[in-house]
Amino acid sequence: MTLSNCDEILELVPAFVLGALDADEAARVAAHITNCPRCRAKAESFRDVVGLLPYASGALTPPPRVKRQLFARIAAAHDDAPAETAPASRPMAMPRSTRPGRWVLPAFAAMLALIIGLGTATFEARGRADQLAAQLAFNQQTLRSMELQIAEVRQTATAVEAQLLASVRELDETRLQLAKSQQEIQALRTSERQDEQLVSFIAAPQTVSRPLGTTERAPDDASARMFMQPGHNRLVLMIYGLKSAEPGKLYRLWLAKGNQPIAIGVVTVGPDGVAEFVVDAPEPMDAYDQVMITLDEVDTAAQPSEEVIFEANL
Ligand SMILES: [Zn+2]
Repeated sequence: MTLSNCDEILELVPAFVLGALDADEAARVAAHITNCPRCRAKAESFRDVVGLLPYASGALTPPPRVKRQLFARIAAAHDDAPAETAPASRPMAMPRSTRPGRWVLPAFAAMLALIIGLGTATFEARGRADQLAAQLAFNQQTLRSMELQIAEVRQTATAVEAQLLASVRELDETRLQLAKSQQEIQALRTSERQDEQLVSFIAAPQTVSRPLGTTERAPDDASARMFMQPGHNRLVLMIYGLKSAEPGKLYRLWLAKGNQPIAIGVVTVGPDGVAEFVVDAPEPMDAYDQVMITLDEVDTAAQPSEEVIFEANL
């Protein structure tokens, strides 16, 4: 084997390794590298490189422009290929340097298939990544919308809480008012019961009525009348046209037995000048000789003052 033969074989080795030679040439290369260690070493190292191609091409991501150009070149090569083989008249003494065209095309096609396959895988991976990104974006949007909803619900809850607090306060106020109203109703009922008792006492057939005489100290239109029943302790006094006692003074009712005056109670005059006074005397009313109402100093209760307003003998 000559040096020139080795050069020729080495030229064919890449196509041989890629399986792109026709049967005759492949047989010739195989026969040569069996006997030539140098060319065999070349072929083996090239085979190693080709074996690594799928891994080395992992990062290959052909831009669409490159892909288009590759397809265009393939199409152009297909158009040229028959034209190159068809003219039989072409001299066979064609320089070796042009012959690679015969194997470069299939080798290039194989490489291209590899690249396109890897590219497709890359594009598929990209598509999957895009899908995941879209899913992520959708999830993030959903999350944001849920967060907004939660914030809204929180706001509503706060507002409801405030309303509830206000309602509780109103309820407390209403309860207080109700309690007050119930007390007022109770007071009115008590007063009504007393009025009823007063009316039924005054209207009773055995009740005796007697006007009290006024003194010069009584107002001009003042009048007083007493009601009592023989054998009973109760005394009812109805007074009209009397002014409220000035500060430090009060109206006091006295009953006298012989010359002994007994303080019975304080008569309170309302702003309308009316006083209703009901009292149970220590003894039945028959026991007393005299009744009078005096305007006394607040702190003197042992003896009636000289200021007698009403009086009557019984
Ligand atoms: Zn060789």
